[in-house]
Amino acid sequence: MKNKLFIFFISCLGILSSVKAGTIKVVTTTTDLKSITELIGGNKVSVSSIATGYQNPHFVDPKPSYIIGLSKADLFVTVGLDLETGWSPQLVASSRNTKIQKGAAGYVDASIGIGLLQVPTSANRAEGDIHIYGNPHYWLDPLNGKVIARNIANGLERIDPSNKSIYEANLQAFYKKIEDKMKEWKAKMAPFKGSKIIAYHNEWVYFETRFGLDVVDFMEPKPGIPPSPSQLVKVIKEIKADNIKVIISSPYFTTSSSDVVSKQTGAKELTLATSVGGFESIKNYFDLFDYDINQLTTVLK
Ligand SMILES: [Zn+2]
Repeated sequence: MKNKLFIFFISCLGILSSVKAGTIKVVTTTTDLKSITELIGGNKVSVSSIATGYQNPHFVDPKPSYIIGLSKADLFVTVGLDLETGWSPQLVASSRNTKIQKGAAGYVDASIGIGLLQVPTSANRAEGDIHIYGNPHYWLDPLNGKVIARNIANGLERIDPSNKSIYEANLQAFYKKIEDKMKEWKAKMAPFKGSKIIAYHNEWVYFETRFGLDVVDFMEPKPGIPPSPSQLVKVIKEIKADNIKVIISSPYFTTSSSDVVSKQTGAKELTLATSVGGFESIKNYFDLFDYDINQLTTVLK
């Protein structure tokens, strides 16, 4: 009897320890944050992203299942600024999970320390502008990935200090891989420095700045405002005047207005990924840049 009890006790311990391994539950708003969290957290974390990689991160329809996921989370990671302003703050509040509310140990704003671009002199949501604190698409510069990873590591270390050395080692490995890949990406992009491009939405400025492209204008007259006839006329004029060869879009925008402009000018349409999972082959944060740079360099040749 004593033996049986002892075995029962030992097997309970086994269950407890198996539950503990890898079960820091993390919810991220986007797939890029999920990928980086997995790279830093390794087998200590299980991560889910609310938005998919082929969804417009500004506009995500809230679902009850997101609130359930958030209610069980130990850590929440957000891009911040006003990228997810229309949906994620409400979901986090509805979860009533005190661990992940803004200011709590389990809340990570990945934008802390990012050198923001296009910060307006005054915050004004005129005409529905959704970039009022500066451009929020900062993860599209791979070097900003390092800042994001540092913020995520800080969050993991706050809630799980006993594994700090693991997170720090994974962070250093991430930095090293970014630096190695940057050399390759910069070399591939070097011949296309100064290439003029039209984009659908103003989400490329960090990528553009890092790799020396020149995004001249956008199909949207203002971020979040659909293309207007007068904007298309303006863009067509610019493409003709500057001999622009490419219009880049993202998986979540309809192609109808780009089709019109392409037909009128001969400029090629190219859909790039803005997040991990934007296309099936893009499984992690490194794949994202591999994919976009391969596509761009092929079209710009
Ligand atoms: Zn945007």
